[in-house]
Formats: sequence, structure tokens, C-alpha cells
Amino acid sequence: MTSESRKCGAVPVLVPMPADRPYSYAVPDGMCVVPGSIVRVPLGPREVAGIVWDGECEQIDAKRLRPISQAFDCPPVCADMRRFVDWVASYTLSAPGMVARMILRAPEAFDPEPWIEGIQLTEARPDRMTEARQRALEMAADGLAWTRSGLAHAAGVSLSVIDGMKAQGVFSTTMIPPRPVVPLPDPSYATPELTADQEAAAAQLRQAAAAGRFSATLIDGVTGSGKTEVYFEAVAEAVRRGRQVLILLPEIALTQAFLARFHDRFGTKPAEWHSDLPPRMRERVWRQVAEGTVRVVAGARSALFLPFNELGLVIVDEEHDPAYKQEDRVFYNARDMAVVRGHIGGFPVMLASATPSVETQVNALQGRYERVDLPSRFAGAALPEIRPIDMRRAPPARGGFLSPQLISGMRETLARGEQSLLFLNRRGYAPLTLCRACGHRFQCPDCSSWLVEHRFRGQLVCHQCGHHERRPDACPECGTFDHLVACGPGVERIAEEVVGHFPEARTIVLSSDLLGGVKRMRLEFEAVAKGEADIVIGTQLVAKGHNFPGMTLVGVVDADLGLANGDPRAAERTFQLLSQVTGRAGRTGRKSIGLLQTYQPDHPVMQAIVSGDSQAFYEREIAERERSALPPFGRLAGVIVSADNRADAEGHARQLRRAAPQAHDIAILGPAEAPLALVGGRHRFRLLLHGERKADMQGFVRRMLADGPKPRASIRVQVDIDPQSFL
Ligand code: ADP
Ligand code: ZN
Repeated sequence: MTSESRKCGAVPVLVPMPADRPYSYAVPDGMCVVPGSIVRVPLGPREVAGIVWDGECEQIDAKRLRPISQAFDCPPVCADMRRFVDWVASYTLSAPGMVARMILRAPEAFDPEPWIEGIQLTEARPDRMTEARQRALEMAADGLAWTRSGLAHAAGVSLSVIDGMKAQGVFSTTMIPPRPVVPLPDPSYATPELTADQEAAAAQLRQAAAAGRFSATLIDGVTGSGKTEVYFEAVAEAVRRGRQVLILLPEIALTQAFLARFHDRFGTKPAEWHSDLPPRMRERVWRQVAEGTVRVVAGARSALFLPFNELGLVIVDEEHDPAYKQEDRVFYNARDMAVVRGHIGGFPVMLASATPSVETQVNALQGRYERVDLPSRFAGAALPEIRPIDMRRAPPARGGFLSPQLISGMRETLARGEQSLLFLNRRGYAPLTLCRACGHRFQCPDCSSWLVEHRFRGQLVCHQCGHHERRPDACPECGTFDHLVACGPGVERIAEEVVGHFPEARTIVLSSDLLGGVKRMRLEFEAVAKGEADIVIGTQLVAKGHNFPGMTLVGVVDADLGLANGDPRAAERTFQLLSQVTGRAGRTGRKSIGLLQTYQPDHPVMQAIVSGDSQAFYEREIAERERSALPPFGRLAGVIVSADNRADAEGHARQLRRAAPQAHDIAILGPAEAPLALVGGRHRFRLLLHGERKADMQGFVRRMLADGPKPRASIRVQVDIDPQSFL
């Protein structure tokens, strides 16, 4: 705070609005703020929280200047974070205020946490001694302050015992400071014995963590090689040096096992940050990150916008995961922005994956990123043997989706008392329902997507917008009864087939439709890990990071599923997903197999997975990208125009295209109707910009938007720099 001059007079304040620059406010007499101060300001008829920003104020008439209403008693947002906000805004073409809004997500936390009323032992003693009272007195004899319930719990007595003695003056009231959400991690709590490979990797990472400057390192190792174990050593080093650490995970709400492992290593859990956190907990974590009470956070992508003041290391686990991309308001990729954050803050960033993204592979190949390899599984556990099942030669029985080879594999696994996993990335019972009499297909009224049958719920559901309706008995088009058929499989339908084959087996379906939310999900994952299910049928939810010791067979129901769409990353995504899924097998040394049901056993992706030759896959994929100038050898940006009606959306998109500047190194494709042409009642058109690697994509889009028509009321234009989705 000392280096930043205190400002009185007028200051710029960034408010959480889509405005392109901060607004000016007067600082009332007696209030002093610095850049980064969180303040409350009037905005139109409302009041909002904002951040005092850097730079000069706009010159505006002193009479029109409105004063800041309140400066919160809160650590200011640090200079690195403010630069980060400006950087992200400029890179993603978002309003800085909308990026700052991601910091200001815990409004109750701008005020300090209240102290809690506690009790403390006095000299007085109770009139009459009971065994319960005795226990409470002994517990409180340390003279420290306790909460009433804390003491009751620790002494194993009821609250009334405590209150009774308090009434007699045995305890006095005292105020105690808010408790940390988690205790301090101890970097030396349980240091692991690393293998030689792991130790070499750990040494390199420790060194990076100790260097006190920016670096980016790819930790590339097969599933089960000990990547987590190894990057924990870097975390320990950063913690020892008094720095805060952020570990980003793609599915934090489901990674109970991760928290437990962190606890084993550091003697306490990290603070968690994700959307399922209870609101009160979110506020406390936010505040304690700002104050520095929390040293390590494990969180989802939005944790990148927590108000760290001493951040010194970011780990991005499963760095290839599509969940790092946010496609809402501010379109950003948390993995890439983490590297930017490290660059601005002058600290290391580590990206871990068994199947790194092509972008990260190329960065490592070209020397922009360091690289650490962990080539083999820990304790000699073998990777599963992968075999393709050629569905043209070994088709399933009529009406079924599982080939006889897969079924016999499951039978053998069951006989050995081991677990099987069937993977299909499709929720529900069937992706399409149609009428056999008239051919009517059930489609969402607001989206261009088929309604997915969820048989257990008796509903047809739109996976785009959530619209749902009861599955009727008769066709709404022709009125014929009992002629509706389900087309194609979802996990529920596979479960039905499995139960038909193995009625005795304990079968469970794991998908995001599981009732009971994250809590239930955690319990189910734990149950599976403990061996309480024989056959698990799951969507991509089961593919990520879980450790199921008894799982020795993984069957992929439709290995071709991801290959069919027009996504330039289709091959990469399929390779990653199938590697992850089959990597669930054999984590504890038992012999294991992965079976891929495919109609394209000769496809390079299938071949790479079957042979285990991931290097060959990457070489081929990188060459392919280079030839077609796709990322990271070229640049892409999507512009999505949506409107209440189709003509408006198309018209606006066309006008935008006409407004595009001339550039020799950027080509415009479209506008074309988006593959998801209708979502939630909005019609969508897309422009795709394809540029050379060095092209000024942001400058191009900025000029196009500035010279193009101003969007009318119902029209929305979204810019997606480095798009991951083309739907
Ligand atoms: P990855 O993150 O690469 O998938 P993990 O770090 O999860 O690998 O390690 C896989 C399993 O092996 C975990 O159960 C982990 O506890 C165990 N493991 C790895 N390295 C060691 C080690 N040096 N000592 C003890 N257990 C280890
Ligand atoms: Zn819909």
C-alpha cells in the first residue's frame, strides 16, 4: 500500500458492467482509497461494488461527479491482479468491468468477518459438580476461548451443561476472531518416497517453484505415474517460501479423492472454490484468500479470479480438459489465462496431463514451456491392454448395443470378482424418439436439438435448454398409440441391456442426472472405489481422475462418437477421452483390458490408443494442424450472432462481415447458420475467422465490431477468441 499513492479528489472506478472503461467518482472528505480498493458507488438508481482502478480520471464536470458511498474494509485488489483483468479483457475482447465482475463475486466478503461470541473459564466454580460439568471444566482448563458448541462437542456434553455453568459465572463471554476455513498446510507433514523418475521430476519442479520468476512447465505422464505426487513437491516448496498456491481442477466438485490426498501430504485439506460451495463458505474463502489466511486453494476455473495477494504458483491439472473453457459472458480459457497470470506475477505455472493438448505439446516442443516426463506407472502397475472390437465383424445382438466380445469380457471380469466400467458419453435412455407410424421426431420447441428420453423420469428432455415434457403414449402428430420408438443408446439403455445379461450383478449408472447432486455423486464414487458395484455405466463424469482399485475392464460402447463432428479438435478430443477412460483400469497392478467398440478400427486415433503409441498420434496430429494452419499454428476466432428471429440474426451477421477490414492474413468464413441453430428460442449464426499465427486477430475483430452496425435490442454478438466449440 505504501508504494501506491493515496488518492483524494476523483478516482476511476471499474464497475461490474459491460462498459469499456472505468467511471469517475469523487472521493468524499475523510475517505482515502488506493488503486485496488473495493468501494460501493452509485450507478444510475442503484449502488454497486466496484474497484478503484489505475490511471487518470476522465475530466468531467465536478458538479456531475458523484461521490463514492463507501470504502470497504478489505485488502485492495493487488496491482498484478488489476493488470491481469486489463489483459484478459483486452485479449478476450470483453469489457474490463465484466472481467472485474468475476473478482467481485462474494459481496458479503467485502466487510470483515464478524468476530464470534465465545466463552472463557473464570475463577468461579459451579455450585454443584456433576460428571458432565467436570469434563467441560477440564476441557476448558487451558484458559483459551471456546465457542459454546465447540466446548460442548469437545467435552461430549450437552449445550445446557455449558449454559448452566455460564449462568453461574463459571464462564465469561469473550469475542473470538473468525476461524480459518482450513488450517495452515504443513509442507513437511508427510514427505513421500519418490521413485527415481519421480524424484528427478520433483527436483525440477521444486527448482522452478523456488526460482521466483515466471516459467511454464508441462508435466506429461501416463495416468497413475504420480503427477499429483510430484507437483505436490512444488506446492510444498512454494508454501515454504510463503507464497499462496492455486491448484485448478476441471471437476472440483467431484474430486473428493484429491482433497483426501492433499490432506495425507499436507496434514490438512486445501480451501475449495467452486459453484457448489455453500454461499457462506464462498464468502469466507474469498475473504481469507484476500487476507492471506488461506494459503492453498483447489478450485474450478473461476478460482483464477480470487483476490490472492501473494500468489506464487498455479497448477493446472488435466490441462487439456475442455471444462477450462468458459463460454458465458467472458469467453476465456483458464489454462491459458493461468499462464498469463504467472507471467504477470512473475511466478511458475505447471500444466499436468496424461494427454496434453496439442497447443501445450507444441509450446513444450518449441521450448516456450519446460517439460517434465513421467513415463511409467507407479509401482510397475501396467497400463491396460487395449483391443478394438470391430463392430462390423462382431455386431451386437438385435436391439442391443454390446458386442458378444464385450459381454464375455464382462462375464470373465465378474467371475473374478473384479469391476467393469462401460463408458458412453450420452446421458439418458435414447438420444432420439420417433413415431414409427408417421416418422415424427420429438424436437425441442426452443432449440434445434432432439429431445432425449429419460426413461427413469418418464420424460423427454432438451440437453441444451432443459425443456422437458412427459413422454406421451400417442404420437402428437398422427395420434397413433404405442408406436413411439427410442433410437440409439444412452447410458440408461445400456444399463437395461446389462441388467438383462447380468441380473445378479450390482449395476450402477453414473451421470450428471443422478438425483441428489454432488453429495450423492461423491458417495457413489466412494462406494464404487470400495468395490460396492460390479458394473459401472457412466458418461465422461467417470472418465476423470478417479481411482477405482478393483476396476480391470473398461468397455467403450461407441469409440467413434466424438470423431464424427466438424470440430478441428475431434481427433484430439477422442484420443484424450478414450485414453482417460481406459486409464481408469488397472490402477493397482492387476492385469486389465480396455475394449473399444468401433466401426473404424483403422482410424489413426484407434490405432494410436490400441498401440499405446501416443507419440505417433501427437506427431501426426501436430503435422496435420501445421499443414492446415490450425491452432497453435494459426489462430481462430468465432463471432456468434443471435436474435429472436432468424432474419435479424442472419442480417446482422452479414452486415458484420461486410464491415470487416481488409487483412491479408485473416480469412472470414460464413456467416453460416450455427450447427446449434436455435438455442433457448434464439436463432444463431456464426462467423469463423481464421488467421495466420502472427495475425492481429483482436485488432481485426475490434475494427469489425466498431465499423459494423450497432446491435439492435434483441441482437446479441458474442466473440470467442480461441474457440473450443464450433456449435
Ligand atoms: P497421476 O496424477 O499421474 O495419475 P498419481 O499421483 O495419482 O498419478 O499416482 C497414482 C497412484 O500411485 C496414487 O494412488 C498415488 O498415491 C500412488 N503413488 C504414486 N507415486 C507414489 C509414491 N512415490 N509413493 C507412494 N504412492 C505413490
Ligand atoms: Zn431446448
